[in-house]
Amino acid sequence: MTKKILILPGDGIGPEIVAEAVKVLERLRQGFGLDVELEQALVGGAAYEAAGSPLPEETLALARQADAVLLGAVGGPKWEGLDRELRPERGLLGLRAGLGLFANLRPALLFPQLAGASTLKAEVVAGLDLMIVRELTGGIYFGEPRGIRVLGNGEREGFNTLVYRESEIERIGRVAFETARRRAGRVCSVDKANVLECTELWREVMTRLAADYPDVALSHMYVDNAAMQLVREPKQFDVMVTTNMFGDILSDCAAMLTGSIGMLPSASLGADGKGMYEPIHGSAPDIAGQGVANPLATILSVAMLLRHSLDEGALAGRIEAAVGRVLDAGLRTADIHTPGTRRVGTAEMGDAVVTALDEVSESSGERRP
Ligand code: NAD
Repeated sequence: MTKKILILPGDGIGPEIVAEAVKVLERLRQGFGLDVELEQALVGGAAYEAAGSPLPEETLALARQADAVLLGAVGGPKWEGLDRELRPERGLLGLRAGLGLFANLRPALLFPQLAGASTLKAEVVAGLDLMIVRELTGGIYFGEPRGIRVLGNGEREGFNTLVYRESEIERIGRVAFETARRRAGRVCSVDKANVLECTELWREVMTRLAADYPDVALSHMYVDNAAMQLVREPKQFDVMVTTNMFGDILSDCAAMLTGSIGMLPSASLGADGKGMYEPIHGSAPDIAGQGVANPLATILSVAMLLRHSLDEGALAGRIEAAVGRVLDAGLRTADIHTPGTRRVGTAEMGDAVVTALDEVSESSGERRP
């Protein structure tokens, strides 16, 4: 059956990088039997300009009907002064909530050709391939009560609530165990069970779940140690699963191990396999419209989309292998350019990946984000 993909280019460099990802999808459709229909809609600042809302009803309705959503990026200085509810970022939050996307998958993988781009020593990060599974719709970012109150003595006090139900922990845990099954078979659950009762329960539920996945090895780590281990010896990890706030922080730290945010894709998944896929970077207003942005994070987001929402793992592997081939050939956008490599623009990089799709085999895709 034909699957529907909703394309949301967004703002800034969004339309430029998404155009390259669409070229890849079109080539897979025409040459490799991918049965998809592409639709396009507005989100973020572009939607505010056209329809007065960062997430028009029509966009959310199309997203609900689609099997998967591919997003560029939203935001820009032009909209920073707007009321919170009208800001482009609200479009993203509305999509996450409206589609029930509770699991955020953030791979940190380093193509060996780019090991020199990391701020860490090449031998510490070369070959890095880890996946952070972050709970996205619960925890302290959403817990009630919350607010700032005035105490009896007139002093103000800020407060938030860290809360997780067993069912919420279990469903994110299952995503992590299933993900590990497709990778190296190891899950590290990150908590602060020595201090926070909520994550004591987290640890207990993860341990219970592990019995359903005898083929996956579960370990536990306190979040402070996990932060340290990520920069000390990141290659020890396969899949890390953690709460919303811990995941927010650790996934940015892991991303920077790879040296370029222009290379990293992400997925946000719901219960029914539906997902939203996007590069981890923002709309980069400083380089928008110049044709120099790196489209590879968005193209690799297409690979994640095919693997997680469309069950097209072989075609996902083909995309990843094509990206590897292009890097092998020495092509680099400005953000990953080093002496001795050839500097190319957004469209030339996209075209090179499309050409490479025909030159690689599906099994040569070595990465499984
Ligand atoms: P950013 O990720 O947009 O840019 C940070 C730096 O990285 C900039 O120098 C930019 O030029 C560079 N960069 C980013 N993506 C690149 C790419 N593909 N190729 C080459 N260089 C790239 O972060 P920011 O500057 O903090 O935020 C800019 C806007 O994006 C803000 O409005 C912010 O709210 C928004 N934002 C959106 C998302 C999203 O849509 N998911 C995420 C983060 C930030």
